Amino acid sequence: MSKRVTNYALVILCLNSALFSQASAADTAEQSSLEGSPEFCQNLPRPEYASLTRLDYPNSWFELYEVADGVTAIYEPFQWQEAISYLIEGSESALLFDTGNGIEDIAAVVATLTDKPITVLNSHGHYDHVGGNFAYANILGMNTDFTRSKQAGQPNSNIRIEVSPEALCLPPPSGVTQETHIGKGYAISTFIEDGHVINLGDRSLEVMLIPGHTPDAIALFDKDAGLLWTGDSFYAGPIWLYSPETDLEQYRVSLQQLMSIKGVKWLLPAHNTPLVKPEILPEVLVAFDDMLAGKLKKTTAWEGTVIYSPLNQTSFSFLMRDEAVPYAKD
Ligand SMILES: [Zn+2]
Repeated sequence: MSKRVTNYALVILCLNSALFSQASAADTAEQSSLEGSPEFCQNLPRPEYASLTRLDYPNSWFELYEVADGVTAIYEPFQWQEAISYLIEGSESALLFDTGNGIEDIAAVVATLTDKPITVLNSHGHYDHVGGNFAYANILGMNTDFTRSKQAGQPNSNIRIEVSPEALCLPPPSGVTQETHIGKGYAISTFIEDGHVINLGDRSLEVMLIPGHTPDAIALFDKDAGLLWTGDSFYAGPIWLYSPETDLEQYRVSLQQLMSIKGVKWLLPAHNTPLVKPEILPEVLVAFDDMLAGKLKKTTAWEGTVIYSPLNQTSFSFLMRDEAVPYAKD
C-alpha cells in the first residue's frame, strides 16, 4: 500500500507539471518562497484563481475563495493533492462538503467563517477528503460498506508520503511529521441514501450517488443556484480511475447521470480548481469512450498504470491500470 501511495504521488508531480505549465501569475515574493520546492509548486497559483475573490485568512496552509453566494472553497494549494473542501451556508445551518487532508486544522478555518451549526458530508471516503472529519460530531455518510470502512482512519504507513518533502511546497504545519502523521478515525452520525435532501434553511442540497471512482462517490446539487459538486468524478487534471475500488462501468453511467442534470451553471470539483463549466462533461464521456475503444494514446505513469490523454483536450486525462483498457464487460 505505501509503495503504491508513493507512486501515486510521483505521478501527480509529473502530471501537474505536464498539464498545467501555463505561466504562473505568482508574484516575486511568492516565487522566491517556492524555490527549491517540488516542480508542481512552480505552477502555483493556478491561473484560474486570479479572477476569484480571495478571503483573508491568517494561515498559509489554506486559501479561501468565495466561489458563489454563500459558498467558500477551502483550498490546500501547497500540498500535491490540491484538495478543495467547500463550506456551503444556508440561513439556518451550513454544510462542510469534505474536510481535506487532515494535515492542518480545517475546523479552525470553518469556525472563522460561520457560527451556524455545521454538518459534514464527504464526496467519498478517500483519505484526502475525510482528514478533518474527526473534529465534528454531526457527520452524514452514504450507507455503503466502503463508507463505513473508512471511519477507522488511516495508519501512518498509508499516508506518511502526504507530508513528505516531495508532497509539499511549504514546511508542514507545526507538529506534523512523516513519522507521526495519521488519518484520524471518526464516527458517522447518520447514514443516508441516494436522493437525500439536506436542508440548510433557504438552501437545499440533493445528494446523488454516482459510484465509479469509489462505491460511495456522490455529487451534490444546489438546483436553485445551479451548482453541482462533483467530488473526484470530475476535476480538471488527471482523473484517478485506477484504484481497486474504482468501477469503470459504473463510472460511465455516473458520467451520463451528471450530464443529464438540467440547470447546472458550474461544476465544483474536489481538486485543483473550484469552478468548471459543465460543458466539459460530454467531452469527458467522449474521451472515456475513446479510451475504452483504444483510440487514445497512453503514456506509462509507473509499472502497471498509464495515463490516457484526450486528443483535443488538455484540461483532464485519465489515470488507469494498464490492464483495465480495453475492458470486457464480464
Ligand atoms: Zn481526491
